Amino acid sequence: MTVPPLYTSTRGHGPVALVDALLQGLAPDGGLYLPEGLPALALPPAAPLADIGPRAVAPFLPDGDAAPVGDTFAFDTPLVAAEKLLGPRGFMLDLTRGPTAAFKDVGARFLARVLSTLAPPTDGPVRTVLVATSGDTGGAVAAAFHGVPGFRVIVLFPADGVSPRQRRQFTTLGDDVVALGVDGPFDACQRLVKEALARPDWREPLRLTSANSINIGRLIPQTTWFVKAFADLRGRGEPLFVVPSGNLGHLTAGLMAAEMLGIPARFLAAVNDNDAFLAWREGRAPRNAETVATPSTAMDVGRPSNLERIEALVARRPELDRRIEVRSISAAVTMATMRSAYADSGRFLDPHTAVGVAALRARERESGPWIGPAVVLSTADAGKFPDTVREATGRTPPVPLSLEGLDDRSERWSPIPPRLEALEPVLTGTTGEGNR
Ligand SMILES: *Cc1c(COP(=O)(O)O)cnc(C)c1O
Repeated sequence: MTVPPLYTSTRGHGPVALVDALLQGLAPDGGLYLPEGLPALALPPAAPLADIGPRAVAPFLPDGDAAPVGDTFAFDTPLVAAEKLLGPRGFMLDLTRGPTAAFKDVGARFLARVLSTLAPPTDGPVRTVLVATSGDTGGAVAAAFHGVPGFRVIVLFPADGVSPRQRRQFTTLGDDVVALGVDGPFDACQRLVKEALARPDWREPLRLTSANSINIGRLIPQTTWFVKAFADLRGRGEPLFVVPSGNLGHLTAGLMAAEMLGIPARFLAAVNDNDAFLAWREGRAPRNAETVATPSTAMDVGRPSNLERIEALVARRPELDRRIEVRSISAAVTMATMRSAYADSGRFLDPHTAVGVAALRARERESGPWIGPAVVLSTADAGKFPDTVREATGRTPPVPLSLEGLDDRSERWSPIPPRLEALEPVLTGTTGEGNR
């Protein structure tokens, strides 16, 4: 019988079982949970995510049974040849086909389905899922938990930092999703979530949990499309995965997937002007002390949470360090990349994917083409960012099917200052209770 791994905090707390790690989000010592050992996975034959997803996450679940994930993986993540854009060995891994047109759908759906199956609150207050968003997480988590009995979602977003279409994904759903526009950057939202979870007088009585990528439950399902891409690329040489990065959850999941499969791969983390990860690699201070606003808003993270996980993974296995590269791409180059991609190949890139494409190009200019397949993760649909895409290309990208009608729905959200006291009335109030 499969024995699923236990989870230990990067700061030592634990070990705890999966459900506890998911419910706690952040470990009580302020650290982030990591599996004590990663389950070994045999490389599956090439197949759609609907097949590979449940198989890849099963070893993490009680009795190795994937039933709790339900329809989490009910859309595909195709690997598409992108020769015009990226050269003969270039691919895009399209992660934009979920209900909110961003890869975060998968992690959010996994968390919602697994928690509602394995940890439904049977009596007392609903569970409150706190989520800080730099744009896409809020919509994905709201969509995943909306209508799930026993849960409500509180989304904290930078009031000035998300696109209107992104915002509508979590301000138009109804009572079980409360949206708070924080007067500050994403990092202020993330800090509020961490501080709220760190309060013992709130955490237990109010049944708080977090759906940010501080929650290991977001990262486990994100390993699946790396597994799928490895399967698709079997026999083609060592892949280079280009990961547009902000909070570094996606990169952490990629490292976990490669380790589970025992297959070598190279990872290029593509960051925007918020270059904390590059600075960490170079042993210097970040260029900007504060979070700076860029066209790739979902990556505007000044202090990436998952750096703590990456440090722990590298400490466990020092050779990982050589598998990670980092490049920082400026806002101007991001816009120019969107423009040239459209001019050269008729393809609309969203600003996040554009950072990845630009990072790969910069790497090739410096070191020549990568020896194996180069895979840029396409993290969001261009249609979520119509204003930025229009500014770069002069054209308006089509609205993704899943977002049609969104612009017409009426919004509800409240502005709050970036202080914990401002959160208290919302947490202790009765908002959302009606939707049990
Ligand atoms: C969240 C997000 C990223 C960054 O992923 P991290 O796991 O935070 O590094 C990149 N692109 C898009 C579109 C995102 O929503």
